[in-house]
Amino acid sequence: MPNPATTVRINGVSQTFGTKTRDLIALDDVSFDIKEGEFVSLLGPSGCGKSTLLTAIAGLGPYSGLIEINGQLVTKPHANIGVVFQEPFLMEWRTVLQNVMLQAEVRGLDRHIYRRRAESLLARVGLEQFMHCLPHELSGGMRQRAAICRAMLHDPSLLLMDEPFGALDALTRDDLNLELQDIWIRSPKTVLFVTHGISEAVFLSDRIIVMSPRPGRVAEILEIDLPRPRSLAMRETPEF
Ligand code: ADP
Ligand code: MG
Repeated sequence: MPNPATTVRINGVSQTFGTKTRDLIALDDVSFDIKEGEFVSLLGPSGCGKSTLLTAIAGLGPYSGLIEINGQLVTKPHANIGVVFQEPFLMEWRTVLQNVMLQAEVRGLDRHIYRRRAESLLARVGLEQFMHCLPHELSGGMRQRAAICRAMLHDPSLLLMDEPFGALDALTRDDLNLELQDIWIRSPKTVLFVTHGISEAVFLSDRIIVMSPRPGRVAEILEIDLPRPRSLAMRETPEF
């Protein structure tokens, strides 16, 4: 069953971390909205507070200000989200399929229905031959594909991705950018994609929220109206 589309509202969000010597302002009065089904990238240099913001939206970290998902104040993880981190965080003793099925297990979802869905997601990202392998038998790109399948198993209407391809080589990242575009076109959902790669952000996004170096503020918001599906070759065009 498709989930209802999801909107996100971020209004006056700040976060300060106390350190031994001084207070560190990680986020300073950040505000923007994400519309239903929109693909938004959060782009900025390392240390500008991107992960702090994504963690807060995921309901996993502290913040001051207002974050709402579908008009509901975020105080704990929203039921309808999927999260992908820079590291895939797979359980090394479980097969790839069992790692993806973890999402169904923790949510108490029907094993038979979701096993079929897990298999079809894994097939879609080219892992059908590797479902019963252990994570250590997979390359970095394949592990991250498995983590994306796990994040999408319950068909969340909001996908939060924190530099998911940051640790991968350039060619693998290109492949995964194409696959993510394909997944998003086939099952549209609201996405917040954190990256420090400009080209990746332009390739994937409807809008890019550009953040300033610490303390993280919104420096600029760019609309990307290139038609989809986008090809990697488009990166060489003047519009891009
Ligand atoms: P980004 O993801 O953009 O690289 P982060 O959100 O991880 O940036 O971090 C922003 C700033 O906040 C950094 O200077 C980081 O060191 C600091 N920071 C993040 N989390 C904590 C924490 N739990 N305690 C102290 N400082 C933190
Ligand atoms: Mg980060």
